[in-house]
Amino acid sequence: MRVCVLGGGVIGVTTAYALAREGHEVTLVERHADVARETSHANGGQLSYAYVAPLADPGVLAKLPRMLMSRDAALRFVPQLDLHQWRWCLAFLRACTRARSRQSTAALLALGFLSQRLMHEVVAREALDFDYVRNGKLVVYRDGEALEGARRQAGFQATLGCEQHVLDGAACVALEPALASIGEQIVGGIHTPGEEAGDCDRFTRGLALAAKREGAHLELATEFTGLRTKGLRVLAAQTSAGNIEADAFVVCLGFQSQPMLAALGVHVPVYPLKGYSLTLPHANAQGAPRVSVTDAHHKVVYAPLGERLRIAGMVDLAGMSAHADEARIALLTRQARETFPEAGFPEAGSPEAGSPEAGSPEAADSGALQTWTGMRPATPDSKPLIGATHFRNLWLNTGHGALGFTLALGSAQLLADLLAGRELSIDGDAFAASR
Ligand SMILES: Cc1cc2nc3c(=O)[nH]c(=O)nc-3n(C[C@H](O)[C@H](O)[C@H](O)COP(=O)(O)OP(=O)(O)OC[C@H]3O[C@@H](n4cnc5c(N)ncnc54)[C@H](O)[C@@H]3O)c2cc1C
Repeated sequence: MRVCVLGGGVIGVTTAYALAREGHEVTLVERHADVARETSHANGGQLSYAYVAPLADPGVLAKLPRMLMSRDAALRFVPQLDLHQWRWCLAFLRACTRARSRQSTAALLALGFLSQRLMHEVVAREALDFDYVRNGKLVVYRDGEALEGARRQAGFQATLGCEQHVLDGAACVALEPALASIGEQIVGGIHTPGEEAGDCDRFTRGLALAAKREGAHLELATEFTGLRTKGLRVLAAQTSAGNIEADAFVVCLGFQSQPMLAALGVHVPVYPLKGYSLTLPHANAQGAPRVSVTDAHHKVVYAPLGERLRIAGMVDLAGMSAHADEARIALLTRQARETFPEAGFPEAGSPEAGSPEAGSPEAADSGALQTWTGMRPATPDSKPLIGATHFRNLWLNTGHGALGFTLALGSAQLLADLLAGRELSIDGDAFAASR
């Protein structure tokens, strides 16, 4: 079958790879000159297969008023004159029930386990160099109530086959000595030994080459502008390089899936949640964490990527612009410096403290702290949309929110199984666009 994959982030590339390996004739369309230039570029780097509890949870409702009032809160809402934003927020609030949160957790865990198995297979099969480590993950808490909630969640996830351990504060510091300077504030943590980390950008670029070796054609520097349809059938993708005809089309356009599909009358509840990352190019091995760490209080994640330390956080519901808010970057930098003071952060105010964008050649060479902004393509219930649309040959693989790197390989496999009409190894209905 001829399949046209729209979008060259981690989701589009894993989809192209899975389909090409099955013998399909794949063309991937990406507007940038390389893959992984947008949200898949400098994300948190965590492969958090077991840390999948959705953002929409009854516990969030109680915290919302404080979050909305505080400028320093991890979650920030900037109201827009945009019906789509308000619809998304209402759907999010509706998803904040215990039953829905647990259903989503179970579905995402199944997709996470599938993705982890496939990651191990890909790492064994392809020579990918992406600073991949199986280093486990420690989520630390600074207040007892939050730790109690996490303990309950871990108990629920244990019934679904998750191996997680509840640690007290001292055990957290013993496991990750770089946390010593905030040791007194840590009341406990959840350790998940099976979690992993890696550089999503390098993974995606490496897998794109593997997809090419499997026969996929990468149509880079090519803007997708629309779909030519006849009745409920898509005939061709219209692009700056001309029309691309195919038997099936898969939309993997990240947060831009929504506006591109709305033009066709296909409504998908995907809204961008803006986030930020910092990359410390040469972290001090004694002061930086080796285990992936999440500071639950600030909602900031830390992942070692070779000799680099990646730090990511902030969730801004603030419209479609990827413009960086300097105040948010400054806040993230301050929190990271306070949490790991010996990691080797440049002095505040020094020339190295502010910097070029992560990933630019100047940034890599300068040794400066690199900053980056990305737009998580989020659905209200945190579950991606994987499956058919009302167009007979138009498919979705999008809406992976905060977990796109983690869930990419499983999502691509699920899409390939659906396209082939095969029996599914996990519950596909949980991810259906029509759910
Ligand atoms: C701060 C931050 C931290 C994160 N941390 C983690 C983490 O630790 N672990 C994890 O699993 N996930 C993490 N994520 C989430 C993860 O990065 C995303 O879920 C994932 O990158 C989404 O991939 P995607 O392929 O759907 O989107 P994208 O990477 O945005 O890819 C979409 C592609 O479509 C292309 N495109 C769009 N419109 C067009 C067009 N008209 N024509 C041609 N091409 C087009 C874009 O150029 C882009 O390359 C994080 C995200 C952020 C922002």
